[in-house]
Amino acid sequence: MPKQTHIQTIQSLAQGVFDHLVRIRRDLHRHPELSGHEAWTAHYLASELVQLGLEVRTGAGGHGLWADLVTDPSRPSVALRVDIDALPIQEVNRAPYRSANPGVMHACGHDVHSAIGIGVVGVLSQMRTSLPGNIRFIFQPEEEEITGAQRMIRAGVLNRPTPAAIFGLHVAPLPVGVIGWTDNLFLAGFAHYLVTLTDQDLTKVQPGHLDAVARRCCQVINRFNTWHLPTTWEEMEAFWQLMHIGPRQLKNFITYDATPNADDPAAWEGQFGLGITAANPHLRLAALGRVRAALNAICGATRTRYHIEPMGSIIDMRNDPQLVLSNLPALTAAVRSEQLIHLRGAFPFNCEDFAYYTKRIPGAMYWLGAANPAAGKFAMLHTPDFDVDEGCIQTGTIAMATLLFNTLSQLALNPPD
Ligand SMILES: [Zn+2]
Repeated sequence: MPKQTHIQTIQSLAQGVFDHLVRIRRDLHRHPELSGHEAWTAHYLASELVQLGLEVRTGAGGHGLWADLVTDPSRPSVALRVDIDALPIQEVNRAPYRSANPGVMHACGHDVHSAIGIGVVGVLSQMRTSLPGNIRFIFQPEEEEITGAQRMIRAGVLNRPTPAAIFGLHVAPLPVGVIGWTDNLFLAGFAHYLVTLTDQDLTKVQPGHLDAVARRCCQVINRFNTWHLPTTWEEMEAFWQLMHIGPRQLKNFITYDATPNADDPAAWEGQFGLGITAANPHLRLAALGRVRAALNAICGATRTRYHIEPMGSIIDMRNDPQLVLSNLPALTAAVRSEQLIHLRGAFPFNCEDFAYYTKRIPGAMYWLGAANPAAGKFAMLHTPDFDVDEGCIQTGTIAMATLLFNTLSQLALNPPD
């Protein structure tokens, strides 16, 4: 564990850069850019990194960038990844820093993540003489499209040197100051399919028949859901409590999302999209079997056939247990212990392309509490009134700087083979 004085130094340096980070967060919030279009954001972040004295690699896998804080190339390296893209949502907040780009909004807090990334660079570059290794700071585009991580990995972000560990965080509708951690499944995998219905007897096609059967299929499949997505702060609070307790059904959850394509003028008649999210690949396969059984019954009764086409998927995102547990004492020292929540069940509704880094190297992601209900800031992800208590920027900066410093300290004591 870093000496207590190192954690205190991190805390006081994080306080010192806080006002600057709030300015960065607001600048980014005012200028959100969609996945694949993060040119302004990348340029802005690159100039911040250059001002902090780092050499920046830009244009990695689109508008991605990374920068290395090198103290001694012969020593191990660890990485921090933050994401930088925004969503196609029209912001309804009236805050002075509200989005200036119509129809585009940082409604998932990637502006906050980016500011924290710069904050950690600012803190740890001031501690470089005591830093027992090197750090790669990764600013990743296209997270919302689930394409950015793989594109950056292809561009070499995990090479020369390969980081010994990678960390990430995501803002959450938890009270500001709180951090949710797990040594297990962080976010589930997801599989998406396109289902196409056709008439068994093509000579007797009734107009509208296939769309009607598709709607029926969607109704039946959506009824398989036993989970209700929390839409209010109160429901969300209860859900975190459930994740803390970690009941069996939350460890084996499955969610189904079947949506008719009838509104899409480009879609064929009788097509619908099917999304399956579940805690592991076996459950996703079992869920697909259940869907097939339902489609067999409906199609048999309506003289139709169906075809299921895989349209893409993302793997589960699991934290490395050893990495999480070995860092817990340092994290507890940096953030008050009552602020840490142990999650024994995963959030069953989102996925995260951080999974592609943790598939290759040990990694851990944390939920960062960003809500302040008394101030009307609920941090409900992907909503048009999403906003955060900016105090979370300080907690996030301290937590991430501590995790990176602590992991390098451990590697210095037990160098990898
Ligand atoms: Zn996000």
